[in-house]
Amino acid sequence: MFIDTHAHFDICMADGYTEENLLLKMKESNVEYSVQIGVDRNDFLLTSEFASRHENVFFTLGIHPSSSFEDDDIACLENMVSENKNSRLIGVGETGLDYHWMEHEKNIQIDLFEKQIDIAVKNDLAVIVHSRDAMDDTIAVLKNMHPEKVIIHCFSGNPEEAEMLAGMGYFISFAGNLTYKKADNLHEAVKRVPVDNLLFETDCPYLAPVPERGKKNRPDFVVYTYRFAAEMRNMDVGKLCETVKNNFSRLISKQL
Ligand SMILES: [Zn+2]
Repeated sequence: MFIDTHAHFDICMADGYTEENLLLKMKESNVEYSVQIGVDRNDFLLTSEFASRHENVFFTLGIHPSSSFEDDDIACLENMVSENKNSRLIGVGETGLDYHWMEHEKNIQIDLFEKQIDIAVKNDLAVIVHSRDAMDDTIAVLKNMHPEKVIIHCFSGNPEEAEMLAGMGYFISFAGNLTYKKADNLHEAVKRVPVDNLLFETDCPYLAPVPERGKKNRPDFVVYTYRFAAEMRNMDVGKLCETVKNNFSRLISKQL
């Protein structure tokens, strides 16, 4: 049984997949759960509604560091989060820092990130962290705010950073780019992160793993990433799945 901890079903559907097909493929590949991830105010409603249609889909609400936003979006997020308590809402995000695209100045991104960590902590939810070319500042913000439940999504740092973040009690989620031939840093990182801190995701429709690389990614393709990681760690894939299921259960405070 596999879990995909990060998917953008809405973008997959805008890219040509149908809702029925995405869910059917998950079932056929034994991907039992996935998480629909929000990226801005425009998808708050469709994200929660999507999850409410599918018992095996959790969801998060948040404002991505590259999304455009208005001043009152944080208040809107706060409202949506409290309205969705007791649903399958498991986190705030994706939020974080993106110094690659730099859609907003650093201080604006940091402020938006901190406000969302605050909302997550107040509501006992996980923080889904996006960090691109910004690992030092990401770690600084996390150390400063020290939220307890954190997923570093689509981990793209070096092995030392992976170990440090795992040491802070955070979950390191590897995406399909783990399977890419030249991803030496990720190959080393997935071996060094303690197994109890590991998660896997697709971030679909982006970053399809080998052997589907180049295609539009889907939640069921996460199985390739698990298999690759199990091989890297010299571990039985069934055992890895079981451990990740426990990790995710711990994160959402609910035994799956
Ligand atoms: Zn994402």
